[in-house]
Amino acid sequence: MADPTTPRSRDHVVVMGAGPAGLSAAYELTRHGTPVTVVEKDPRQVGGIARTLEFMGCRFDVGPHRFFSKSPEIEALWTEVLGEQIRPVSRLTRILYQGRFFDYPIRASNAFLNLGPVETARCLLSYAQARVHPVVEPQSFEDWVSNQFGRRLFEIFFKTYTEKVWGIPTSELSADWAGQRIRGLNLVEVIRNAVLPTAWRGGGERAIVKTLVDSFRYPRLGAGQMWESVAARLASAGHPVRLGEEVMAVRHAGGRVLSVAVRDSAGGTLDVLGTEFISTMPIRELIAKLQPAAPSIVRAAADALGYRDFITVNVVVDRAEVFPDQWIYVHDPGVKVGRIANFKNFSAAMVDDSGLTGLGMEYFCFDHDSMWTWSDADLLDLGRRELVALKICRAEDVKAGMVYRQPKAYPVYDGAYLGHVAVVREWLARALPNLWLVGRNGMHHYNNQDHSMMTGILVARNIANGANYDPWLVNTDAEYQEEERAGKAAGEAAGRQVPQRIAS
Ligand SMILES: Cc1cc2nc3c(=O)[nH]c(=O)nc-3n(C[C@H](O)[C@H](O)[C@H](O)COP(=O)(O)OP(=O)(O)OC[C@H]3O[C@@H](n4cnc5c(N)ncnc54)[C@H](O)[C@@H]3O)c2cc1C
Repeated sequence: MADPTTPRSRDHVVVMGAGPAGLSAAYELTRHGTPVTVVEKDPRQVGGIARTLEFMGCRFDVGPHRFFSKSPEIEALWTEVLGEQIRPVSRLTRILYQGRFFDYPIRASNAFLNLGPVETARCLLSYAQARVHPVVEPQSFEDWVSNQFGRRLFEIFFKTYTEKVWGIPTSELSADWAGQRIRGLNLVEVIRNAVLPTAWRGGGERAIVKTLVDSFRYPRLGAGQMWESVAARLASAGHPVRLGEEVMAVRHAGGRVLSVAVRDSAGGTLDVLGTEFISTMPIRELIAKLQPAAPSIVRAAADALGYRDFITVNVVVDRAEVFPDQWIYVHDPGVKVGRIANFKNFSAAMVDDSGLTGLGMEYFCFDHDSMWTWSDADLLDLGRRELVALKICRAEDVKAGMVYRQPKAYPVYDGAYLGHVAVVREWLARALPNLWLVGRNGMHHYNNQDHSMMTGILVARNIANGANYDPWLVNTDAEYQEEERAGKAAGEAAGRQVPQRIAS
């Protein structure tokens, strides 16, 4: 049954999903005076993966979300939304490996001191080998990183954690992920970063590889505060997010999407009509929901896209101080946890009682793994045991905890994903030009919040202004590569235009 309250204006945009991408698109549309309806399947919260959960006076992100962007426009937008509520944080993050803490970003002196002279010699030898005999045209993460750091350092600092995150051998993981995360970084860069003053690193202050960025910003009450605030602004502008409305079908005819059918929390079905449609849903889900169905080749391509799922075991520890880092990467293969975040080190306001500490323990898995269906009690027990095994706290310090399961946290970059995404994109561009894909899973692209936001903003401008930005270039070209040299961009002057080369 059609929703009688749905506006039928000629220019009405329907946004599917109230994560960073969908909310940013909607916010930009309201700036242009374009009516917009945002439907979100979660009945309580906006923010998607960047939401913040509350439990017993402690706040936990779904994996910690630092705010850092090379786009001055995105940084300015964060300031516009949160003002004094978003604050700078000096980064302290380390790797826990075989009972020792290694600085991360890796500092050569600290790493070699911890590894000892014999292991250091092995690392340097294997680095020399990699320089003399690199893998030509590396295709896998393993070959790519071994070329940059040598096989030995790769095994110590990259292999275990990466395999925990992705659940596949690093030899099967595409080099694209390394390129996106750590390009520009190699052993020489690490040593130079460790020993030279900033001004001598070549290129002056601008020459900091993003992986090495040592400060970022963070909202006082967690990442979700940003998205709750954007949603509040949308509500004030007359476009409240429609929570608890899940898109069940995307209906099209005559080469255009006409409506989405949503199921509300009460189980009823509504048709939401529009002229343009923006999807942040995972591509696999979107294609499966098209009515009439997409051609079988397109469905097969979408179905072949993989995702990595994610469990956070969030514990309240009855101690004021546990460790000083914002997060610790856990490289030991003997425990399942991949990373542990300490949220009060992002913002003291993340705990109501300063005598307590909130730790978020990250477990990467697939939704078909048995771990995904473990009871909360079993997962909490695992978390407690692993904290003890890692000597982070005592079992009796863990006062309580809660578990959060995040499906499709990571779009998987296997050897074939680019081809599958291309099939879907090409067909959609021809068959349904008023359906726009944005965001992380929405584009199957390893986008951070800033990238996800920018894709939404550019599409909003295309719709509202008839602009011709290409959101698929965000986080791929020079300006948006994660590993590109960053620095001055963070916190730069407000209101700058998006450089045309991001968007052309
Ligand atoms: C562990 C982890 C750590 C991260 N750390 C950082 C970080 O430090 N800094 C950073 O900038 N980024 C970080 N990110 C990335 C960041 O979370 C994403 O870039 C961002 O959340 C993507 O926004 P999005 O709107 O595209 O998607 P999502 O956040 O996934 O939001 C999509 C929304 O759509 C809704 N939805 C889905 N299907 C439907 C449907 N059928 N109907 C209605 N609604 C639907 C979902 O409920 C969700 O609210 C991290 C991600 C992870 C997993």
